[in-house]
Amino acid sequence: MITALIYFSGANQSLFLFLHLINILIAGLVFRASGGLIIALLTSSLFTVVSVLGPELKALNYFMILGLNNVAYFLIAGLGGYLSEQLFKVDTQLVQTGFSLKQMQELNQFVLSNIPLGLMSFDDQGTVMQSNQSLHQILECPLGTADNILIPFPELKTLMDQEVNRGGEQRNEIVKVIGNQEKILGLTLTRTLNPLSGKPLWIGLVEDLTRLKKLELSLRQSEKMAAVGGLAAGIAHEIRNPLAGISGSVELLSQTTANDDDRKLMKIILREIDRLNHLITEFLDYARPEEPPREVVDLSSLLKEVLAMTRLNQQLRQDVLLEIKIVEPNLVIGKKDKLKQAFLNIIINAYQALQDVAAPKLSVETSVNSAGKVVVRIKDSGVGMKPETLRRMFEPFHTTKPKGTGLGLALTHKILETHNVEVSVESALGQGTEFTLIFPCPPA
Ligand code: ADP
Ligand code: MG
Repeated sequence: MITALIYFSGANQSLFLFLHLINILIAGLVFRASGGLIIALLTSSLFTVVSVLGPELKALNYFMILGLNNVAYFLIAGLGGYLSEQLFKVDTQLVQTGFSLKQMQELNQFVLSNIPLGLMSFDDQGTVMQSNQSLHQILECPLGTADNILIPFPELKTLMDQEVNRGGEQRNEIVKVIGNQEKILGLTLTRTLNPLSGKPLWIGLVEDLTRLKKLELSLRQSEKMAAVGGLAAGIAHEIRNPLAGISGSVELLSQTTANDDDRKLMKIILREIDRLNHLITEFLDYARPEEPPREVVDLSSLLKEVLAMTRLNQQLRQDVLLEIKIVEPNLVIGKKDKLKQAFLNIIINAYQALQDVAAPKLSVETSVNSAGKVVVRIKDSGVGMKPETLRRMFEPFHTTKPKGTGLGLALTHKILETHNVEVSVESALGQGTEFTLIFPCPPA
């Protein structure tokens, strides 16, 4: 169309020559270098044809104009193409940057919501701007933006005031009742300015330290125990030798004396020495380090042996109603004599708890749970335990019996621990006690 316009308006002198240039430039910009070149080629051919066929005089001037125009067409096509290539490059870069920006944002969000650390930001009034999943789990309450953090977490207020007075970043440890349990929380609080609004902004990091603190405590306790235990075991061992000497001598003396009163006294001495020896044996058993268990043990026959032993024990009440449901065999990896001792301690305690009750009943039951683990239940209808005793029964030397050592269950616990047995005990005063032991699966 442009060529026709130019033709009718007198080719070389036409006012519309510039239209070709614009057309090629646009083609270059829109259809990139190749589009520009095609249009330039087309224009140049048409223009040449029109010029040659045109009615004007073909002077030198005329060929100059024709040549210059053609050169201009290709230059413009090159320029348009170059510009459009550049534009295209910038455009792709922009898209890529936008894409990675979005990805970064998503990644940030993911990290924020998955770090095992409660995170929150809020303003001076406590209005939440940001909070993550871990924080909701620690506080056991969902928090959205615009909620007030001071409602589930009123302790923050005093800490914020302290922080304003002292300045700098503060680390605090607070004990807080959440749900129905006490949690120990580590809290780091910082006050800065919101870069967007310029208003004060609080950033808080909350960590649930409950488990860690408990572990720390039990580690410290067991370290202390190990140190004291080693010493005490040494002393206990040394007491045995003179004790043997004393008991031997007293025995000799009692054979030579004719005085009945003296003999009675000597009997008491011997009985007490026996008791002391028993205590020392139990204590040494407890203090001795356990080796990892390796034998294959049949729990069923072991339990039967233990029950037969208690039946022969004259110190235990013999009219207890026994309810025994032992399926066999129940193979576990363990140390036979150690496990026997553990069961014996639990069952003797049960018998002792049944000593004075009206309807003494003891049930011993084995089963295999859904995970394929052997479960042993030992349940008595005895006196039961107070919550305090239930909490402390595994502690060494904790006993409620006048002649007890308090070492039986401590040793039992240690044995079961080295066997990786899960122990749980339920007990109610006046109703009875139930021990549940879950053994780990034996290796195939
Ligand atoms: P001991 O038998 O020498 O007292 P243990 O360590 O065997 O020491 O037991 C600690 C305490 O746990 C006992 O004194 C008793 O109060 C309590 N206990 C253990 N088993 C039972 C049970 N089956 N019924 C009631 N109380 C029990
Ligand atoms: Mg006992």
